[in-house]
Amino acid sequence: MKKELVELVTDQINFELESAYLYLSMATWFVENGYPGSGKWMEKQANEEVGHAMKMTHYLQEVNVRVLMRPIAAGATEFPSFLEVFKLSLEHEKKVSARIAKIYEAAVEAKDHALASLYLYFVNEQVEEEAQLVDIITRLEKVPTPIGIMMMDDRLGNRA
Ligand code: MG
Repeated sequence: MKKELVELVTDQINFELESAYLYLSMATWFVENGYPGSGKWMEKQANEEVGHAMKMTHYLQEVNVRVLMRPIAAGATEFPSFLEVFKLSLEHEKKVSARIAKIYEAAVEAKDHALASLYLYFVNEQVEEEAQLVDIITRLEKVPTPIGIMMMDDRLGNRA
């Protein structure tokens, strides 16, 4: 595997874990502020991000590249409002999508078909990640009241 590609994937593993850390921070903010359903939902998001990092780590292991773990940056710990957490989360996912697209393009350019295939999976995964956040934000903006927020919190608490 090309050195530049190893570097990109290693960096993305770190960013997925940074995402997980940020979402855990959001989860604890939700719980502390009386939104247990959203706390549960965000905790699951965090777990998903760890899953993405693991999928990328396993790939590097399969092609005999040792993954060197780097420090994870701490994200925000305070958030202005319930709605704002989801807006920040969407902004963050857009950053992830841009990074994933860049790795996919680099893999295609290097004719590393297996890596391109792995990242094509993530390209599609990102469509869903962004869509679910857009859905939450759109619903909240339709009913921007305490009742709307409580209904959303209940709904998010039901995530399987
Ligand atoms: Mg991810």
